[in-house]
Amino acid sequence: MSNRDEFSPRTKKAVALRANYQCSFRNCSQPTSGPSDESPEAVNMTGKAAHIHAAASGRGARRYLASMTREKRTHITNAIWLCATHADLIDRDEVTYTADVLHTMKAEHEAKCAERQRHALSSGEPSPDLIAIGPDIVFVGTFLGVENEVWSFHLKSFFDGDVHTLITFADHYDQTTTNDRYILVNELGDGRALRAKPSVTRDTTGGYTVRCPVFPSATRISAADIPASWALSDSHDLMTNNGNWAIVSGVDALPQQLKTCLSHQQGESPFHRDFGTRFAEYYNLLTDSLWLDRYLSLEVIRQAAIPYINPINNQQYTPLLCVERVFGIKILVNTPTKNWLPVRVDLSVKGLGRWQHDLSVCIPP
Ligand SMILES: [Zn+2]
Repeated sequence: MSNRDEFSPRTKKAVALRANYQCSFRNCSQPTSGPSDESPEAVNMTGKAAHIHAAASGRGARRYLASMTREKRTHITNAIWLCATHADLIDRDEVTYTADVLHTMKAEHEAKCAERQRHALSSGEPSPDLIAIGPDIVFVGTFLGVENEVWSFHLKSFFDGDVHTLITFADHYDQTTTNDRYILVNELGDGRALRAKPSVTRDTTGGYTVRCPVFPSATRISAADIPASWALSDSHDLMTNNGNWAIVSGVDALPQQLKTCLSHQQGESPFHRDFGTRFAEYYNLLTDSLWLDRYLSLEVIRQAAIPYINPINNQQYTPLLCVERVFGIKILVNTPTKNWLPVRVDLSVKGLGRWQHDLSVCIPP
C-alpha cells in the first residue's frame, strides 16, 4: 500500500470542476479534457489535481510539510488543477512555486472562472447547462429534441463520469435499481424516468449524441391537495395552537413540504436508502463555485420529476408532489446558519403556476 496521501476521486473531480477543467497556472488556462480521436469512447484527460504540499516525504517531494495531518494533506484546499506541463513544472521548482504562490494562482483562476460564468449569465448568452443520467453521470450539453418518447442531447463535455461510465451504465442498465434510472435536464427544468437504456454515438462536432427512451411525465397532484401534516415554525420546530399541535395542508403546506423534502439527505433513512437529495454532498464539494446552484438544481428536478418507488408498499410518487418544472434554485447566503442554508426556489407548481419562494434547507456538516 502506498503511503502517499492521495486525493479522493471526489476531491479530484471537485477541484477540476472548480477550475472549469482548465489549467490554473497563471495565463495558461489550457483545457484539460475533451474527446480523443483514438476511439469514440476515448477521453483525452491531461489535467491533474496536483498537491500544493507534497503527498509524501522523501526524494523529489516539494513543499512537504511534516506537521500537516493526513486529513489536511488530502483536503481540497491542498489541491490545484493543472495541465500536465505545469504539474510537472511546479514539482521541479519549489523556490519559485512556493505554497503561497500556488494558493494565489488557484484563487485567481477560480475567481476568473466565476467571473466568466457570471458574465455569461448576466449577458444572457446561452451558456451550456448540466444534464444528469443516473447518479454518476453529469455532463454539459444541449437538448436536441424529442421524438417517439426519446429525448436526444448533444454531449459536449463530462463533469462527472466519462464516456466509459455512460457505456457501463447502458450495459448494466438491467441491473440498475429503478430509482437510479433517470435523466435530469437543467435547460428544461424537467426530467424523466428512463424507459430503456440510453444509446451513445460520436457526432461530427467532436462530442456525442445521446438518446434516452423515456416514460411520459410523472403524475403530480395540485398544491391544494397536499395532505395535512404537523406545522413547522421558522425555527424548524413543531408549533402549537391553543395547546394543540398545529396542522397545515394544501397550498399552506407547500413551503414546508419543500423544506422537508429538500432537507432530507439521501441515505439518512434506513428504510428508504434511495430517498432524499444530495444537497449536503454537493454543498461540501462545491461551496463558492457557481456550478453549485446548477448541481442543486438537478437535485430539485429529480425530486420534482422522478417518481420515488417506496420499497415497503411499492407505491410511486414524486417527492415534491406538485412541482411540475424547476426554473432554478439560488443560494442566497453562502454560509449556512446552524446548518440551515437560505435558498430561493423558482418553480412551476400545479394549480398555482410560477411560484418563487425563499426558504432554508438543512445542510448537515
Ligand atoms: Zn498549464
